[in-house]
Amino acid sequence: MKAIYKFHIKRIFTNTFGFLSRKTGAPRILAFHSVENNDDTFLHQPPQLFEDQIRYLAENKYKSCRVADIAIGLSEIVLQNKIVILTFDDGIENFRTIVCPILKKYGMTATFFIPTAYIGDERQKPHHKGLSVYNEYQMLSWQDLREMASEGFEIGAHSHTHLKLSQQASACAKDEIERPKLILENKLGCPVKSFAYPFGRSDAYAPWTRDLLAEAGYTAGCTMMSRVLSKKDDLLQLPRTDISGFDTLKQFVMKLNGDYDCLRWIWNK
Ligand SMILES: [Zn+2]
Repeated sequence: MKAIYKFHIKRIFTNTFGFLSRKTGAPRILAFHSVENNDDTFLHQPPQLFEDQIRYLAENKYKSCRVADIAIGLSEIVLQNKIVILTFDDGIENFRTIVCPILKKYGMTATFFIPTAYIGDERQKPHHKGLSVYNEYQMLSWQDLREMASEGFEIGAHSHTHLKLSQQASACAKDEIERPKLILENKLGCPVKSFAYPFGRSDAYAPWTRDLLAEAGYTAGCTMMSRVLSKKDDLLQLPRTDISGFDTLKQFVMKLNGDYDCLRWIWNK
């Protein structure tokens, strides 16, 4: 189904039934992609809208932490009100040029998930079909990532070539999980503890891919199953709520407050 039709059906459903799943202020991981003016608003979020959302968080006294912080203290984090974990997938150049300055302006930290096959010494276009949706964009460079890490942002892994891991042979999935950790740690000189499953829906990970994360030494893994954090969560299969360019500030606040969680049983497939 076309994304725009899905968006309108979701909006009608959540406007009607969203209050059933509302948990205002509960800790939640949010997932963003590219922040750039582009007609494709599914992956690309207009910068002004993104800044409005981050300003909303700051003005409403939300605090941020990183995915690695969850692994250290999930039981404490779930007890806190108004805490968000901002995450950004895929490693597009605008993370450095647009996203980081806005986050710093409002005092927010974040975790950036990087598919290492696409990162070079210079910013470059994605050369592999795994990220062809970004063909007209440049990826971050290693220098960008070093600067981001030095500013306190967490750099996590997002596989090597951005494959749907649960649909690969186990040797391939194992390599896609282990290799980006080794590359990032070697290039950045700091431990890499967090991983985001590419695509992230229920068909993108499995108990055996979760076990591969543990064997590789990750302490946190992020899916794209939308709900708040719970102290019972498996740290290697944490929920995240996807924010797209379709989401106005009103829809962003509804997602933040859990109104969209009522959709997860019918839409996260
Ligand atoms: Zn991705």
